[in-house]
This record gives sequence, structure tokens and C-alpha cells, in this order.
Amino acid sequence: MAEDEKSDRTAGEVVLVGAGPGDPDLLTVGGLRALRQADVVLYDHLAPLACLVEVRPDAVLVDVGKIPHGPQTGQETINELLIDYARSGARVVRFKGGDPFVFGRGGEEWLACAEAGIPVRIIPGVSSAIAGPELAGIPVTHRGVSQGFTVVSGHVGPNHPASSVNWDALAQQSGTIVIMMGLTHLAEICDGLIVRGLDPDVPAAVVSKATTSEQRMVRGTAATIAAMSLEHQLRQPALTVIGHVAGMDLGSLTPGTSGTTPTSPSSPVDEL
Ligand code: SAH
Repeated sequence: MAEDEKSDRTAGEVVLVGAGPGDPDLLTVGGLRALRQADVVLYDHLAPLACLVEVRPDAVLVDVGKIPHGPQTGQETINELLIDYARSGARVVRFKGGDPFVFGRGGEEWLACAEAGIPVRIIPGVSSAIAGPELAGIPVTHRGVSQGFTVVSGHVGPNHPASSVNWDALAQQSGTIVIMMGLTHLAEICDGLIVRGLDPDVPAAVVSKATTSEQRMVRGTAATIAAMSLEHQLRQPALTVIGHVAGMDLGSLTPGTSGTTPTSPSSPVDEL
């Protein structure tokens, strides 16, 4: 960066950049601009790492990756790093996968900065909760099929005392359910929903590594999807869609066939 550009600034700032689920093309124009202007970038494994080539050569890159069951940087430490770098006058980008406020702990980072008197702003990102199903050909809502969708965390299932999700209500509503962070507990979640009244035959799909070249999808029903995702060895990050939209496959429709709504996929596993 040019010296005069730096000397114009008296205080640093933190920008929480939602960078989309993995495909660099899903980073917003504003997110890309912030990344190019950054003095420091704190990123983790869910962010589209290919975008880091956009960072200035003299910028500091800090991996604060929180790989499940792997090496972790605690949230407190991340907050402190954001604040310390910004206090030293740096333009700091917190480069996050998806949208920062969808299970991204972006709100905590915002609050920590605000409490420390650090200017903070957010650039929303494309959330995997919507883009993941979408790129697998599943719309989260569809006229005549689903009038709404509910996104829940499955990091703890219905049997866990720490879960505050109303699983009874979820099982009995007619819209789409999107479960994030739920691959490990998928059997407990599906069983719990079925016990509470969900139709076991309702379509369900798991989409893993959406938007990347490793994207995979398994389709089944609420009763079968957990076993199928194990059988096909789907890996995190992955999300599950439960509801009639999960029986749709818009991606398989060729021009001229729109208007049809396939309810059973030709193959249970589609690798995209
Ligand atoms: N803020 C992120 C979500 C972070 S929580 C967003 O808006 O997308 C992490 C969870 O997001 C994962 O456990 C998984 O359920 C989901 N996820 C993130 N990236 C994904 C991807 N590329 N494909 C499928 N699921 C993904």
C-alpha cells in the first residue's frame, strides 16, 4: 500500500465479510473490495480460500480456522486479534464462509468490536443455507410445494439438553427444514422429527461441500437420509434439506420442460 494512503487513516476498522459458501464467484463486489483494501485478513476453513490471491502482497494473513475436531482458535482469541489489529490502525477483514450472521458468530465479533470502541461494519454474504440446496437443484421454497423454510443448527440434536430448537413445532410444520452443522447427529435429528410427527417418507437430501468442485448430494427420505449419507461417506461441511422441495431436481430440467415438478430423482446420488 502507498504510504500516503496509510497516513490518511487515524484509526483502524473491522469489516466482517461474508464470502459465500466456497465458490469465489459468490463473493460480493463489496466483499472483494474490502479484501483488496485489507491490511490484515483473518480467515477460516469455510471461507473461499481461492479469493486470498486478491489480498495485497504486504497484507498479513491469519488463519483462525476452526476445523471441527481439529486445531481451533477460540472465539475470544479471534475477537482479541480483530480488536488489537484494528487498534494498531489496520483495516482488518474477518473473512468468513457464507453469511457472518448465519451461525457464523459474526454477531459476537461485532459486539466485541463495538464494546472495544472499534469501528465495525458488515458485508453480508451468500449463505450456504440457501445456495447449497439451490446449486444442487433444490429450491428452499417453491410455489405450491413449500411456503417457507426454517434453518436450524443440528450441532446438538433433539435429545440434547442444550438444544433450544422447538423440534415438536418443526416436525409438524409443512415448510422446508434446513439443518446446518447437523451431519454428526443426523440420525438422532431425523428420528426425533419422525417421533414428533414428521412423515418418514418426506423427501430429504444432504448436500456436502456445496459450490466447490467436490460438491456431492445424496437424496432419500427423512427415514433413510442419515444412513444414506453415512453409506455414501458425505463429509462436512454439509447441510440437510427435509421437505417436499428435496424431491425436486430443477438442475435436471432441460429447456422446454419447465412446469414439470419431478418428485423422485432418477438416482439417489448425484455428484455435481
Ligand atoms: N455462515 C455460514 C454457516 C456457518 S456454520 C453460512 O451462512 O453458510 C457451518 C455450517 O454451514 C456447516 O456445518 C454446514 O452445515 C454449512 N456449510 C457451510 N459451507 C457449506 C458448504 N460449502 N456446503 C454445505 N454446507 C455448508
